[in-house]
Amino acid sequence: MNEGFPEERGAWLRCYRCWSQRLEAQVHYDEILKVDPETGEAADRVEEIQEAVVQCLDCMHDQPHLTVADGRVVPVEERWERMVAGRPFVASCTVTIDQDQVETCSGPDAADSLTFGALGDSGTREFFTHVRFHKHDDDLIVVHLLVELYARTEEEAIDVLEEAARGTLEITSLAEESRPPAHAPGEAH
Ligand SMILES: [Zn+2]
Repeated sequence: MNEGFPEERGAWLRCYRCWSQRLEAQVHYDEILKVDPETGEAADRVEEIQEAVVQCLDCMHDQPHLTVADGRVVPVEERWERMVAGRPFVASCTVTIDQDQVETCSGPDAADSLTFGALGDSGTREFFTHVRFHKHDDDLIVVHLLVELYARTEEEAIDVLEEAARGTLEITSLAEESRPPAHAPGEAH
């Protein structure tokens, strides 16, 4: 356990980048309702799907270490400590994946599709990922990426990338950056 980050609400209920505690949650609900064949009434709830994004009001970044459950913001256990206590690392890497893992590699959705194919949910939701280019090699696609992610050590940054990669990962360079300045409470914006 890192000193200065006790496992209490104040430790994780903050922006992972600027440590501001001014947060906003955007929650979208989708309801799936059963339709009564006689009256057409759509009432009985079959399923409710909730999607929540927590955002920092000071630096406007999304907070992938936080989510909403039962009307309360809760930490994502496997992420929060690493992200809040960590520092940004920038990796230049390639991920070689099966072409079936990429829905489309051209057009406006190509970058998202290649990012998801290479790094899954972490690539699209947690990391800042920039697809530099991609190359086809028979049934394989080699995706060249620049990735910014938060970790406490270089080893941890490598582990996180390896865990996220949905194919063969090769890291060409990995550099630790300095953390963006912490948000001072009461600072004017
Ligand atoms: Zn922030």
